[in-house]
Amino acid sequence: MTFPAARHAQSQWSATPVADRKAIMLAFHDLVLERQAELLDIIQEETGKSRADAFNEVMDVAITARHYAYRAARLLRPRRAKGALPVLTGTHVERAPKGVVGIIAPWNYPLSLAVSDAIPALLAGNAVVLKPDEKTTGTARLAAALLAEAGLPTDVLQILEGGADAGQRVVAECDYLMFTGSTAVGRKLAAQAGERLIGFSAELGGKNPLIVLPSADPAQAARGAVGACFSNTGQLCISVERIFVHESVADEFTAEFVAATEALRLGQAWTDDVGRLISQEHLGRVSEMVTTAVSQGARVLTGGTHEGLYYAPTVLVDVPHHADLYTREVFGPVVYIERVATIDEAVTRANETNYGLNASVWGAVRQAREVASRLEAGTVNINEGFAAAWASVDAPMGGWKQSGVGRRHADEGLLKFTEPRTVAVQRLMPLSGPSDLPRETYAKALTTALRLGKRLLR
Ligand code: NAD
Repeated sequence: MTFPAARHAQSQWSATPVADRKAIMLAFHDLVLERQAELLDIIQEETGKSRADAFNEVMDVAITARHYAYRAARLLRPRRAKGALPVLTGTHVERAPKGVVGIIAPWNYPLSLAVSDAIPALLAGNAVVLKPDEKTTGTARLAAALLAEAGLPTDVLQILEGGADAGQRVVAECDYLMFTGSTAVGRKLAAQAGERLIGFSAELGGKNPLIVLPSADPAQAARGAVGACFSNTGQLCISVERIFVHESVADEFTAEFVAATEALRLGQAWTDDVGRLISQEHLGRVSEMVTTAVSQGARVLTGGTHEGLYYAPTVLVDVPHHADLYTREVFGPVVYIERVATIDEAVTRANETNYGLNASVWGAVRQAREVASRLEAGTVNINEGFAAAWASVDAPMGGWKQSGVGRRHADEGLLKFTEPRTVAVQRLMPLSGPSDLPRETYAKALTTALRLGKRLLR
């Protein structure tokens, strides 16, 4: 019943004034903040992340709800466009909802990644069928309950539980597909969406670089890099797994970075820094990638061990370029450092990847900006790891190359969930000219008009 019920509910929901939808999202914003303890508990129970990492999800959802609640009316109201013939053609662009948006979400940010795309989709008048990861359905259910409490009508948001099979039902029936997850699954779903000719966007994996410029303060960069690499236990698509440090600051940076990494506290309390990994299976994958890299010549400066599902934040050097870990996403608290002789070399290394999600540059702002403009990444953070660009929800977020298709956040993060409808009104005479005017005369008049138009219609 999921999709038929969602379709039925959507037809009424899309007739609800945008002001009412906005009020519901603002009420949801307040509820998420008020009931954060419940949300933090379930997120932590399901994922094992630290309290502070769980709070980042609450904050993210509140920011997104506020941003799109205030922005939606402006984006959705009909926009006047230049008409074909000035004065004679009146053209507007309307925005209609897609219908039922399918959202397939991963486990690593079970609140943020389930809800932050649903918010603009719902504000645009769509129903949403959300398929969370099997490991984090409790968080998705609580988020849906809070949206219902905020006033979202029944069936407008539905949760479909299950694994790949449930995901396949979403792909087969939705009118637009938003996927967050691995590049391998994203590629498969893109083909299926293409087959059905439905809109698709995807936020996929990353192997994100951090560059330390000669102008950087090595101690400050090291402290920042710790957050960039080990937040959410490295199970974060935009976190850093590769550090390229200029040789002039490399020794000092490396010493500070290793010391700051060793000072991290593992656990789940507010005072802890790094939580556990999601599962035994994932622990096996992370350990195996590190062990293999070490057997191929990598050196461990710190970490490489685990107690239960707590994997020690790990810093590697001398990772050979043919090692899997050099290019493949670990999705855990593991990073390698490589020295570079020049800034050009840092840029080349940073771009030498099939991914292009996020990058981070530390140093004097002017120099860092120049480097940023040469990086092949959807977001670049200067003197910050990932949070500054991510939390700037008015700016697009997403991946170049194999890190994604389309964008979340910004105006396009809502407009992608709509179909434009161009409505043009022709007045006084048809575009083909007055019926009593010879065609050649009209063509001459149009030629003059086109010449004038080039000067006047900018
Ligand atoms: P995954 O691709 O295995 O699973 C993601 C979701 O897709 C889950 O809900 C899963 O059940 C579903 N799924 C899996 N196979 C499917 C299929 N054949 N058909 C339909 N649905 C299917 O990813 P994961 O391991 O859960 O998450 C980790 C990956 O997600 C990492 O690569 C990470 O970089 C990426 N990620 C990206 C972003 C981003 O915004 N770019 C954010 C978080 C995670």
